[in-house]
Amino acid sequence: VQGLLAGKRGLILGVANNRSIAWGIAKAAADAGAELALTYQGDALRKRVEPLAQQLGGQVVGHCDVTDPSTLDAVFAEVERLWGRLDFVVHAIAFSDKSELDGRYLDTSEANFNKTMNVSCYSLTAVAQRAEKLMSDGGSILTLTYYGAEKVMPHYNVMGVAKAALEASVRYLAVDLGRQNIRVNAISAGPIKTLAASGIGDFRYILKWNEYNSPLKRVVTIDEVGQSALYLLSDMGRAVTGEVHHVDSGYHVVGMKAVDAPDI
Ligand code: NAD
Repeated sequence: VQGLLAGKRGLILGVANNRSIAWGIAKAAADAGAELALTYQGDALRKRVEPLAQQLGGQVVGHCDVTDPSTLDAVFAEVERLWGRLDFVVHAIAFSDKSELDGRYLDTSEANFNKTMNVSCYSLTAVAQRAEKLMSDGGSILTLTYYGAEKVMPHYNVMGVAKAALEASVRYLAVDLGRQNIRVNAISAGPIKTLAASGIGDFRYILKWNEYNSPLKRVVTIDEVGQSALYLLSDMGRAVTGEVHHVDSGYHVVGMKAVDAPDI
């Protein structure tokens, strides 16, 4: 992959720490020669993200909280000031109130439904609006989704509904931006133990279930998601847009529990 992203400049939104999927993608992109800009959400994460960005020879371009559009404006203004243009954006942002990632979807509150949709779904469109202006030479926008968008997964609840809307947004954005050669895709990653995932009820059980029942009989890593992302971010994927690509050890093709799966 050396040189695959040489000369490309990418903005990565959603690194919280060294277990973040966005960090796996950032490492792979840097290894492939990309120049990177990272954001952090709030001062508590700043001190984690700054050394990580440095490790990759990248920049930190500010605080980004997608519920405050002025922070997105500031981040894109800083990218424009630095580079004048942009080749790719990684959107790895999601949030829902932890108390509603357990129990029944039926009990979702209106306030948390709106917040989850805003942060986990609308924010991709908000990012794409700003990225369009800087992708004068075409570009690639990548978001992260999960199988809970397609099928009901225990405890995923309102996040599953938001991911379904996110995947639909990928398709609509792909059409709107296609003429400008800006591609929009998603990776549907298998479960990985990250900060965000720790909010989901019975997550350890979900990990084990995927390990025992996926075709590859294991869970995936952030580095594997990162390497798959290279295809979509680079010119290797130049004819691919509107796609939801599963990086999940093949779990999404399985119809029932494996007959030889141990009890969990
Ligand atoms: P993570 O906790 O490392 O990353 C989530 C990020 O979202 C954090 O950096 C956080 O700062 C950011 N974020 C939350 N609210 C925000 C807001 N209002 N403004 C700006 N940023 C905000 O966890 P992760 O698992 O790496 O999550 C990244 C993406 O991957 C999410 O979209 C998640 O749904 C998706 N995903 C995760 C898994 C998994 O099992 N971990 C599987 C499939 C998809």
